Amino acid sequence: MIRLERISKAYGNLEVLSNVSLEIKKNEIITIVGPSGAGKTTLLQIAGTLDRPDFGIISYDDQDIGAFNDKRLSEFRNRNIGFIFQFHQLLPEFTACENVAIPAMIGGTSRKKAMAKAAELLDMLGLSERLRHKPAQMSGGERQRAAIARALINEPKVIFADEPTGSLDSRNRDEICSIIADLRQRLGQTFVIVTHDPTITTIADRVVKMADGRIVSEENRRISPEELESVP
Ligand code: ADP
Repeated sequence: MIRLERISKAYGNLEVLSNVSLEIKKNEIITIVGPSGAGKTTLLQIAGTLDRPDFGIISYDDQDIGAFNDKRLSEFRNRNIGFIFQFHQLLPEFTACENVAIPAMIGGTSRKKAMAKAAELLDMLGLSERLRHKPAQMSGGERQRAAIARALINEPKVIFADEPTGSLDSRNRDEICSIIADLRQRLGQTFVIVTHDPTITTIADRVVKMADGRIVSEENRRISPEELESVP
């Protein structure tokens, strides 16, 4: 569904990604693991069209998005890609429901329809009591569930997540993992997740290990937390 071919990226003299190729299949949960500075976040941002590579091709359903200008790319991103970050990045002055609805409104959906769909998603994620709460009135786990609802609202082809459980305690980490596994199962949602969290890796179909700007291994299986301990 998504193909990255020979992606390279440098910041000044620092080569951050070097000839990275990766194929993301529909309905797959991929985790990207590896030491800090390996280039994981940069790869995620490039795959998610938030940044452009110096060299290489990114295609979505065989459509080369490298040729898109910034406006077309941001429309494409709004329609096709969801994001979850380590820190929820909800807008503090808006309610949970408004935060979730915003990407749909940006995409041209009416406020009424967007708010109804946002409420439905928040309900599905167990937040029906929090629709009118602002982020400051919600717990860390609740905010992250709202961020997942926001990522889902435009029914994206893929959700990219960067350390989605990185700021949560273990109970909330487990909850977010089961939500992700459930969304893949029930909605066929595709996820690519940069993580250091062994629990997330247990729900992955594929574990991509990076080091020094390259993919050093890909494992097509579920990996146990004990095994992940041995990843440097
Ligand atoms: P990881 O997610 O694996 O920790 P990153 O992709 O965040 O790695 O970063 C890889 C390297 O690129 C790091 O050395 C980082 O300092 C550098 N880097 C990332 N973004 C920028 C930037 N915008 N400008 C300069 N250097 C950057």
